[in-house]
Amino acid sequence: MLSQLVFSVTYDCPVTCKYCVTRSGPHGGSYLDADFMQSVIVDTMKLADLRVVVFTGGEPLLKKNEIIETIKFATGKGLWTRIVTNSYWADTPDNAVLMLSELKSSGLSEINLSCDDLHQENIPIDNIKNAFWSARQLNLPTLIAHKRVKNTKITIDYLSKYLGVKLTRFDPEKNNPKFDIYSSSLTVPIGFGSEWLNHDEHVMYPSSDLAWKGPCSSVLRSLIISPEKEIRMCCGMIDQSVPELSFGRFGTKSLAQIICEANCDLVANWLALEGPYGLMQFVKTKAPALEFHDQYVNHCHLCNDLLTRKEVRALLSTCAEEKSDEISLKRCLLEAVRYRE
Ligand code: SF4
Ligand code: SF4
Repeated sequence: MLSQLVFSVTYDCPVTCKYCVTRSGPHGGSYLDADFMQSVIVDTMKLADLRVVVFTGGEPLLKKNEIIETIKFATGKGLWTRIVTNSYWADTPDNAVLMLSELKSSGLSEINLSCDDLHQENIPIDNIKNAFWSARQLNLPTLIAHKRVKNTKITIDYLSKYLGVKLTRFDPEKNNPKFDIYSSSLTVPIGFGSEWLNHDEHVMYPSSDLAWKGPCSSVLRSLIISPEKEIRMCCGMIDQSVPELSFGRFGTKSLAQIICEANCDLVANWLALEGPYGLMQFVKTKAPALEFHDQYVNHCHLCNDLLTRKEVRALLSTCAEEKSDEISLKRCLLEAVRYRE
């Protein structure tokens, strides 16, 4: 069941990070306006048990006014709202307080500050400190969104010392504190990063490792809207050039129709059942000449390697048709089990 709606408000960003998944940078381009985002919230609430609305990018706060209007609207509907930002706006403590006061008084529930070696090549780390302490001062729940590479310099220990607090890892299974928490994941070479696959920089695991086995629990469970109003239904860590996980564009079909078609999509359902590892094993059996890397960062990296290759996509969609009865039945059973849990 869908419970989270993610607006990629814009792919515009004041900086360009070499591993940016969305290939963002200071290039302007399309963005989602407040009227549109509010109408999507209304439509999603009719179709799903919507709880959380996330604003991300690019840098979403380049469109602050659109976001503020939408946060007020979402808050009025009882929804939790979250912004993920690079803190470019927090260049002084005063500017940080100014921005966060406005967001807090519009009803914002939580702010996530991206902070790691790669972001801090472009954004001074003092901005993070300004944003972090201003949010504390305003009692606005905050999480540090941290990514790792192999020899990370800005580690969580380093950040704890720098911010003068003991940071605790966010646990999705628990009630977390409102402050001094962080999430940590690996930097994945997707988007701009796909041009830089560097085994010396990335933490990688062998693709033969059985720990990769298992379904993808994100696909078909989130709703992500791109600045061009395209709908994607996975965690967002998939290259925008992959048509298989893009299910339509607002204005051409209704949201209900798009969600319905996505849930009938055989490749998406196959991913939900067997994950990218299962698909890779299948492709290896059917087309042994197709080669894969011997190491990947994580499931999504492997998934991108599969789905950005036209020949693999063609093979999967032909075979998905042949396996359609099996996929449909197993998917129903999986959802029934999840529902009971
Ligand atoms: S990683 Fe974040 S801060 Fe860096 S270019 Fe992409 S959107 Fe901007
Ligand atoms: S494994 Fe693939 S489908 Fe699943 S969340 Fe990652 S990129 Fe999306």
